Amino acid sequence: MAWIQEVSRAWTKTRSTAARRLFLDRQAEFWLAEVDPVRSLTETRARVVRVIEETADTKTFVVRPSANWPGHRPGQFTTVEVEIDGVRVRRCYSISSAPGDSLVAFTVKRLPTGRVSAWLHDHLSPGDVLRLSEPAGDFVLPEPTPEKLLFVSGGSGITPVMSMLRGLHHRGAVRDLVFVHYARSRSDVIFAEELRRLADRHPGLRLVLRLDDDPSPRRGFDEADFAELVPDFRDRSTFLCGPAPLMDRAEKMWRAADASGRLSRERFSAEPKLRALSGPTSEVHVRFGRTGRDLVAAGAGSLLEQLERAGARLPSGCRMGICHTCTCHKKSGTVENLVTGEVSSEPDQKIRLCISAPRSDLELDL
Ligand SMILES: Cc1cc2nc3c(=O)[nH]c(=O)nc-3n(C[C@H](O)[C@H](O)[C@H](O)COP(=O)(O)OP(=O)(O)OC[C@H]3O[C@@H](n4cnc5c(N)ncnc54)[C@H](O)[C@@H]3O)c2cc1C
Repeated sequence: MAWIQEVSRAWTKTRSTAARRLFLDRQAEFWLAEVDPVRSLTETRARVVRVIEETADTKTFVVRPSANWPGHRPGQFTTVEVEIDGVRVRRCYSISSAPGDSLVAFTVKRLPTGRVSAWLHDHLSPGDVLRLSEPAGDFVLPEPTPEKLLFVSGGSGITPVMSMLRGLHHRGAVRDLVFVHYARSRSDVIFAEELRRLADRHPGLRLVLRLDDDPSPRRGFDEADFAELVPDFRDRSTFLCGPAPLMDRAEKMWRAADASGRLSRERFSAEPKLRALSGPTSEVHVRFGRTGRDLVAAGAGSLLEQLERAGARLPSGCRMGICHTCTCHKKSGTVENLVTGEVSSEPDQKIRLCISAPRSDLELDL
């Protein structure tokens, strides 16, 4: 076969052992993908098997991941990577399916001007292959599961708590759970049918839907309404995920009730309040140790943004320190963590480029 001769010719030209190994890995990866695009030695891929229209602007993509998918804990997210106009782009999506299922689902709300969500809605169909990161995130049900639970979600923020509910249902562990979900209207409630079925089936599950178009004067999250709905909210292990305004008000309410310790939360979009740099921003030289590339980083924003402006193309996901896609090793130099304000000069330190700012020249293991 011609390709075998081609590989063997290139192989004999390759001298060093390390280079030969790299060459062989690349060849193996290439031919594996030729035989089956889902197979890979180095990354998790998944084939879309079904697309479900949940609401007018939300679809669930059910995928079959490759054998190296490690499984997820309910509440975790995966970073989905697709190629749009020749550029690889990544976004985080909570896994909405139950843990242990051979098929994995993620549910995407289309943002009117959203680059990736709109592309997924318009282009991703059964048979297509995409890349997934390992599941990540610590927005998960603790083990053993607390007796009294409360889920509070809004809009597409229902996805991680739906995975938790599905997991509890599979384990026969729905005991005392209040699930309050906020949506614009009944037709905007994602998973509405299944939620109703589960609520009918489990006497321990109290489902409350709060809809903006209800005739009741209370719309959206309202503290007095909520305290009336769930008077024992302080005593429940609570999982909160929704739009930023809902989350801000709920977090404030829990703080006022001195119950923040019982509140776990997942934010999809709101940026954490990044601190201002403690020192002046000046030009720094950044060396990519592996490729030998030198860049000048300058101006406002995170190290990721500065490097992108300088022409680097780097993997990134949430761009707010959650998904770890942009993590790399800093070999030397000083960075400031824009969330904690910590300034560190430790060598060989793992940093997230999206929440770091350079404070000196740097060498990165890139
Ligand atoms: C942990 C987590 C879980 C999530 N789970 C879900 C879910 O289950 N369902 C759901 O619908 N959404 C979820 N999201 C939101 C999702 O990741 C996307 O932000 C959303 O789909 C909008 O992406 P977009 O590309 O359509 O919109 P855009 O407006 O194009 O991008 C949205 C955001 O992506 C960030 N971004 C990432 N890379 C870049 C880049 N290279 N350039 C510019 N901006 C960039 C920016 O902060 C931007 O504001 C989750 C987010 C996180 C962090």
